[in-house]
Amino acid sequence: MSTVIPTIKLNSGYDFPMIGFGTFGGNDGSEQVYSAAKAALEVGYKHFDTAYIYETEEALGKAIKESKIPREELFITTKLWPNFREPQHVSPVFERSLKNLGTDYVDLYLIHWPISVEFKGYEFSDCKTTGDMKNTHVPIIDTWRAMEKLVKDGKARSIGVSNFTIPMLEDLLSKCDIPPAVNQVEIHPALPQEELLAYCKSKNIVLTAYSPLGNPGYRGAFKTMEEPIIFELAKKYNKTPVQILLNWGVNRGYAVIPKSVTPSRIKDNLTYFKMEDDDIEAVTALGRKNPIRICDPKNVFGPDCDIFA
Ligand code: NDP
Repeated sequence: MSTVIPTIKLNSGYDFPMIGFGTFGGNDGSEQVYSAAKAALEVGYKHFDTAYIYETEEALGKAIKESKIPREELFITTKLWPNFREPQHVSPVFERSLKNLGTDYVDLYLIHWPISVEFKGYEFSDCKTTGDMKNTHVPIIDTWRAMEKLVKDGKARSIGVSNFTIPMLEDLLSKCDIPPAVNQVEIHPALPQEELLAYCKSKNIVLTAYSPLGNPGYRGAFKTMEEPIIFELAKKYNKTPVQILLNWGVNRGYAVIPKSVTPSRIKDNLTYFKMEDDDIEAVTALGRKNPIRICDPKNVFGPDCDIFA
């Protein structure tokens, strides 16, 4: 019997499944992501995370179409890349995402980074971030107004942000008509994000944890799964270390979106169980003193983009 995955209510009124499926390809090709998404749909994932820049929207859309699962049973998130932050570019690139996904609405549309870089065109090849990309200074609220229009037009059910800090959220909340429903950020035991989590809970913004396993295969900088406490808890709950990492997140009150192209892992990752408060605290304590961030925007957008400094 498959596990029942809890949902959390977004400030937009929609239910957000707390274990989702990440589709950032990294070293994987779209064929692998397509097969992985098919496997994920078969074992019961309802929440799928993609982005225009990942070039996995089409693979995901194809897998969804073939699954014949009614669209309203699924929750699809995609994201606006920094080249498209000028308001006039939001709707055209959003329409491309819809077309890639083969859907007429998304459940959640996110500003991928609080950074803007020059627009060079709508093709994937135009938005690869290379060293020669110029940073621009488009105010977040200008982009947000175009995002709010997508909600008003019924094309995005909820809108949100990604990689936003508390001051950035404060600023947006002071200006927006529709508050962000979600902030998607890096969270794993080496980066527990306690302050941001408390702040977002106080503002009714739900967090999504990206790289919830510390991305062992692609960036691989941190061996979250090898901490002794994770093994102890795996034994105590009769679960795998990865299931401990994911449920540590869900039990703290946010969604996790592990990525895998391996069918057995895809299935194992979709497991929910309750953890005791002391055990949650023991995992949180791992990264409290010396947090480690693996997804550094300076490596992608250049040294000026030190947004987490
Ligand atoms: P994850 O922490 O999900 O790690 C993915 C890696 O873990 C892969 O190498 C995968 O291997 C491996 N893995 C998955 N399940 C298991 C398991 N049960 N046992 C052992 N290894 C496992 O990293 P991601 O960086 O991919 O983050 C998840 C998702 O978050 C992305 O796919 C993307 O959708 C989103 N994201 C968003 C960002 C943003 O800026 N908003 C930035 C980065 C990610 P394999 O595939 O070989 O099985």
